[in-house]
Amino acid sequence: MSKHGVLLVLSSPSGGGKTTLCNRLSEIFPNLRYSTSMTTRPPRPYEIDGEDYLFVSEEEFFRRQKNGEFIEWAKVHDNYYGTLYSHVNELLDAGYDVILDIDTQGAATIKGKVPQAVFVFILPPSLESLAERLYKRDENCGVDKQIILDRLSAAKTEISHLGLYNYVVVNDDVEVATETLKSILIAEKARTDHLDLDQIINSEKFDFLLEM
Ligand code: 5GP
Repeated sequence: MSKHGVLLVLSSPSGGGKTTLCNRLSEIFPNLRYSTSMTTRPPRPYEIDGEDYLFVSEEEFFRRQKNGEFIEWAKVHDNYYGTLYSHVNELLDAGYDVILDIDTQGAATIKGKVPQAVFVFILPPSLESLAERLYKRDENCGVDKQIILDRLSAAKTEISHLGLYNYVVVNDDVEVATETLKSILIAEKARTDHLDLDQIINSEKFDFLLEM
């Protein structure tokens, strides 16, 4: 019944819990696919190339950027990140709903190009809780404390762009946040602009409507 999939743009400050929520949503909705971004950031020890990100050199990144291969790209925390047109189009054309996990700059670009996308900001309950998560996540990776302080300051800037988004989900309790996201996706999938209305109207199931 869907005409095309929903493009769900998720942003949150780094450490806001987006990855966990994306994984939860993918388990609930088998038709949902995560768009793997390309980045110049070095992989963290637990990250898998091609799954978490496509890790590339700056040279490779800018070759693709010049070729116009990115639907959006941005410099985030001194590294470059980009979403490949080909990747997103392939998934949407195959009928999947697609999640983009991107920063506020990228979300603003997508809003200009795909205004019908659904924009959701995952808000940590407080900056203190965000700091805790960042320390916990990076404690085994030897990350400099200054990097974490920079990420907290970036978080404040990102939160100031909340007005760009259709929905805000506070990630205090991961179960509640998952349920909220689930409700958003279910509601968005039922919107008339995501449905093939001709197919519904012409469906035999609804013939009685035409006879009335
Ligand atoms: P991290 O390096 O911690 O995985 O991500 C840092 C930030 O980059 C996060 O806010 C994440 O959403 C953002 N990001 C990841 N991929 C992309 C992308 O393709 N485009 C943009 N604009 N931001 C991205």
